This record gives sequence, structure tokens and C-alpha cells, in this order.
Amino acid sequence: MSSTSWINRDKRLAIYDRDDFKCLWCGKRLFIGIDRLSLDHLKPRTKNGKHHESNLITSCESCNSSRQDKPWKKFAANNDVIAKINKHRRRSIKSRRKFAKKVIEAADSWEESLLSALYDD
Ligand SMILES: [Zn+2]
Repeated sequence: MSSTSWINRDKRLAIYDRDDFKCLWCGKRLFIGIDRLSLDHLKPRTKNGKHHESNLITSCESCNSSRQDKPWKKFAANNDVIAKINKHRRRSIKSRRKFAKKVIEAADSWEESLLSALYDD
């Protein structure tokens, strides 16, 4: 199973967008393709944490891997971080998902044109 198949791409992108493309743990701004974005489960998957957006936050890979399965409120650096995470996880992703779908469609068709340009005689 690939690491991206547990969640739809548009939902993943919508959550990154909801979180302003920043790691909510350390505040580092991430750019797809330069620094890798990841999603972190607040309630860990090993403890039955759901794939619902209210349980998922944008994280850089180094925060994600150093947290492992620690309780999220203990891993958070301070109360401001906890408040920020609670604010973000309550934001709706409905309209962001619509936009994310369009972005993904555009990227896919751009990729197709690029590939066909590369492989056409
Ligand atoms: Zn981070």
C-alpha cells in the first residue's frame, strides 16, 4: 500500500490549504516538492484515530517522525500551539476540497500534456 492511498488527494490538499501549508507543530512553511508535507493524526492511528479532517493536521516530516505516538497535547510546545491546532482543525474544508479537485485536475492534465510532449515522435 502506498503511503498516500489512505486519503483522497483532494482531501489531503484541502487540509494543507486549511492549515496555510504550514506545519502546525513548528510553524515551518512547506512547499510541495521542496520540503515534504505530511498529515499527522492527532489521535494516532494505532489508537484508532480516524482519518477525519478534525483529527488530521499538516506537519513537516521531522515533527511527524519525532512525535511518533506521543499524546498531541504533550508534544505541542505550549498552549498557543494547542490553541492554534484546535482553531485549524475546526475550519471547514468543504469549499477547499472543491478548489483542491480543480487544482489536481489541472495538474494531471498538465502532466499528461508534458508526458505526451516528451514521448511523441
Ligand atoms: Zn514541523
